[in-house]
Amino acid sequence: MMKKLTLICMTSMLLASGASEATTPKIKEFKYSVDKFADIEILRYQVPGFENLSLKQKELVYYLNQAALEGSDILYDQNNKYNLCIRRTLEAVYENYKGDRKSAEFEHLTTYLKRVWMGTGIHHHYSEDKFIPEFSAAYFAQVVKSIDASKLPLSTGETADALITKLTPIIFDSTIYPKRTNQTEGVDLIKTSANNYYGDSISQAEVEAFYGKMKNPNDKEPVSFGLNSKLVKENGVLVEKTYKVGGLYSAAIVKIVDWLEKAATVAENDKQKAVINTLIDFYKTGNLKTYDDYSIKWVRDLDSQIDFVNGFTETYGDPLGMKASWESIVNFKNIEATKRTEIISSNAQWFEDHSPIDPQFKKEKVKGVSAKVITVSMLAGDCYPPTPIGINLPNSNWIRHEYGSKSVTIENITEAYDKASLGNGFNEEFMWSDVERNRAKDFASLTNNLHTDLHECLGHGSGKLLPGVDPDALKAYGSCIEEARADLFGLYYMGDPKMTELGLLPDKDAYKAEYYSYIMNGLMTQLTRIQPDKNIEEAHMRNRQLIASWAYEKGKADRVIEMVERDGKTYVKVNDYEKLRTLFGQLLAEIQRIKSTGDFEAGKNLVEAYGVKVNQPLHNEVLARYKKLNLAPYRGFVNPVYTLVKNAAGEITDVTISYNENYVDQHLRYSKEYSNLPTFN
Ligand SMILES: [Zn+2]
Repeated sequence: MMKKLTLICMTSMLLASGASEATTPKIKEFKYSVDKFADIEILRYQVPGFENLSLKQKELVYYLNQAALEGSDILYDQNNKYNLCIRRTLEAVYENYKGDRKSAEFEHLTTYLKRVWMGTGIHHHYSEDKFIPEFSAAYFAQVVKSIDASKLPLSTGETADALITKLTPIIFDSTIYPKRTNQTEGVDLIKTSANNYYGDSISQAEVEAFYGKMKNPNDKEPVSFGLNSKLVKENGVLVEKTYKVGGLYSAAIVKIVDWLEKAATVAENDKQKAVINTLIDFYKTGNLKTYDDYSIKWVRDLDSQIDFVNGFTETYGDPLGMKASWESIVNFKNIEATKRTEIISSNAQWFEDHSPIDPQFKKEKVKGVSAKVITVSMLAGDCYPPTPIGINLPNSNWIRHEYGSKSVTIENITEAYDKASLGNGFNEEFMWSDVERNRAKDFASLTNNLHTDLHECLGHGSGKLLPGVDPDALKAYGSCIEEARADLFGLYYMGDPKMTELGLLPDKDAYKAEYYSYIMNGLMTQLTRIQPDKNIEEAHMRNRQLIASWAYEKGKADRVIEMVERDGKTYVKVNDYEKLRTLFGQLLAEIQRIKSTGDFEAGKNLVEAYGVKVNQPLHNEVLARYKKLNLAPYRGFVNPVYTLVKNAAGEITDVTISYNENYVDQHLRYSKEYSNLPTFN
């Protein structure tokens, strides 16, 4: 189950209204944009409200922030076993190279290093394709050899020449490790994925057999098998190397635990203290039952203002959806903005009851849908530099069923997106007319946040599997189907009169802003993120094209959506919003049926027919139009810097924030202060 909502939809983020500004006063002239390279723009985010936390709360945030940063190296190693070696080599060159630093080759090297930081490794964070540097292998060898060998991440007895020989094909040969997580049907997904969740030479069939044996269909409370380990072959036998103190990634996990222990001493209440202590216990033992115990405590702690995720959490990186990448996000509740999500949560049963799906797939009782709007204070691992805008956890199905889930919308991140995008020309280029543009200006910020709320608070938590249906029955299509389900739930209700009745939307036409941008994005503008001649791989993008192109085709006879040409350019035109809503409802019903019954064939057919293939001529047109705008299709973030203030007696008197650190300095500093792991693990 994939529960992290990433920002794919640029379009609806492009114009800010006043809607999301009910927070604390802003720093004047805050500079959001920090850096720009390749297809990436780096932003910074503000942490409004931090100054209003109590000293003890600030201290807690500080310790949790530190625990977050201590895990920084883990994801590099999970993404590919050479990543730490490559990063450290490049950083050594960047910091020590005495030759011409203004040359084109050195600039290409700098760009490549920035991309490695953004991708937490040598693959693009989003397409997951390996990116190839614009400097030559000869230049790489020359600069590596020019610096003091003691600065290089050499293995015992290794020379700089041997290091260069080892890394050159990994960096420059596009046929080696071409894809981080391969989802292409019909090949061995484990052998063809470049990431490091499985040892070399292990096949998909072996993995499936290994974990298949562990699953007991009668177990009502199954642990998340394989979540926190690398599966390797030792002497011909498959064994799990567990991520824990004393196990794999121990050096980083020990540091995380140290900070969590400090955090426990300043917990806001006993419930939160128990959450932290159980997580510590899990990190020390690697016991997945303890992890479930932690998850249950975490989901039931609704009173604390400060909250955090720190651990092996999301399984996007494993083509089989079992192994989790490490991430951390520290945050506190935005009390004012949370009123919006509380309205949604408190009406959860109404939404479930009125959903357009077959009654046998509905939850009789929707449990514990808690939702809040949060302000993040620190991002790390799989939440950094590219950042989710919403999270819904835990991922364990039975825990969600028994105890519910916590759902969050990260408003200081979406706000940074909105603010950084003001007036960049995107809507002028791609939207059909001023009607759509003005609606976007008036409502898009609000409707986009609301869609995130509905997706996270209700969408993922709605519906149920029929008894005996394997939650993994949809296999590689599962995450796309799940995201489509959550999106459709949100889209369907966005157009419901209940939205204005509950005071969630100010105007009966406001939902059209979201509908238009969703369809335009799904049919056209998200293609700006796809390389020429490539198909769509990523689950959220597949889901968005699936929904948009399915609605386009099914509504064609009634001209619900049209693709119209004007002055040689293609535009999306939505003629009938009410019918579009009906179509969303119909697709939701079918997708819920697929999910509830585990209908693999139907799921596969739907995704392959609508979600994967790209309309090439349109793709080329969109890329050309987008290029002229000179915008970066992807964004990442830098974190603020937190400093403990102490008095003469050494007591903590305050925690301050500064926003001045740039992208390069931040990564170089993290690599010095938090680089805990060996180069090879
Ligand atoms: Zn989602």
